[in-house]
Amino acid sequence: RCVAASASSSPAVTAAATEVPGTMKAWAYDAYGDASVLKLDEAAVVPAIGEDQVLVRVVAAALNPVDAKRRAGKFQATDSPLPVGGQVKGLREGDEVYGMISEKPLEGPKQSGSLAEYTAVEEKLLARKPKGIDFAQAAGLPLAILTANEGLEKAGMAAGKSVLVLGGAGGVGSLAIQLAKQVYGASKVAATASTKKIELLKSLGADVAIDYTKENFEDLLDKYDVVFDAVGQGDKAVKVVKEGGSVVVLTGAVTPPGFRFVVTSNGSTLEKLNPYLESGKVKPLVDPQGPFPFSKVVEAFSYLETGRATGKVVISPI
Ligand code: NDP
Repeated sequence: RCVAASASSSPAVTAAATEVPGTMKAWAYDAYGDASVLKLDEAAVVPAIGEDQVLVRVVAAALNPVDAKRRAGKFQATDSPLPVGGQVKGLREGDEVYGMISEKPLEGPKQSGSLAEYTAVEEKLLARKPKGIDFAQAAGLPLAILTANEGLEKAGMAAGKSVLVLGGAGGVGSLAIQLAKQVYGASKVAATASTKKIELLKSLGADVAIDYTKENFEDLLDKYDVVFDAVGQGDKAVKVVKEGGSVVVLTGAVTPPGFRFVVTSNGSTLEKLNPYLESGKVKPLVDPQGPFPFSKVVEAFSYLETGRATGKVVISPI
């Protein structure tokens, strides 16, 4: 039985030992399939923690496409039990934290996900929740912002470079636009979305907002130093990159010189990004259909899987 991931985000409070019950509510599944395989378990066992882990009381969690793919059975070969080890040093009881709870979302995921009242997480994957960001907003950040950051970094994004973000209104794309502009100092940011989301792209910092229902981005004249593909359009993405530039793709087929990577969770990267979140230079984007209450996880997954979410689909409160 799997406690349903959110593989990513578990803004939470480190649990107080006196309060931890033996059982908890958790969404779980016994069979792979669509969102209807999810069942609310009213008496799931609270996970035991390893020596380098923290038991966190989950307040909000985000749904990510990878969680739907895992629930559908696409990563069965790597579904694996809880890791253990080490000793926690930095965090204290009651600290408000957030983080992506699986170090590698496609390798060794946890049996204990964050669609549950408690989840056990390695300390190194957690960061202090940014001040001024609420739990629901924080839930949407870890997997998405770490992916946006790692993708831009691996693509060699740097001050003065231009970038095109394909899928700029989604969970990852909305943060890729903001990080490119605010953290990496991009000279020009372009992004794609459908008609209703064009103004949103601009509000996130896009200098050029391309409505993919009206224009083919690959037919535009400009070429970019970096193309960040959060849609799975690797074949077209390579047509708009400058010679010597980089095309990073999150999903779908890879066409050279494009490359794909899988995000790694890291609490210290979140700590480095916290000042941008605390100053409001980078803003979390929670899909306005949500946050969905804990009882509506099935509906929330169905919505995520329409592929039309704006920012992150978040479950809160838990
Ligand atoms: P979302 O579910 O948040 O993406 C939804 C967004 O995609 C919507 O806003 C939609 O906008 C936009 N979109 C859909 N089709 C197009 C299109 N043709 N052109 C432009 N925009 C489009 O997904 P995420 O951002 O969370 O993830 C994106 C992909 O990246 C997923 O496949 C995910 O599994 C993968 N991923 C991979 C990671 C890795 O480490 N390799 C890490 C994180 C994610 P509209 O409604 O306007 O179409």
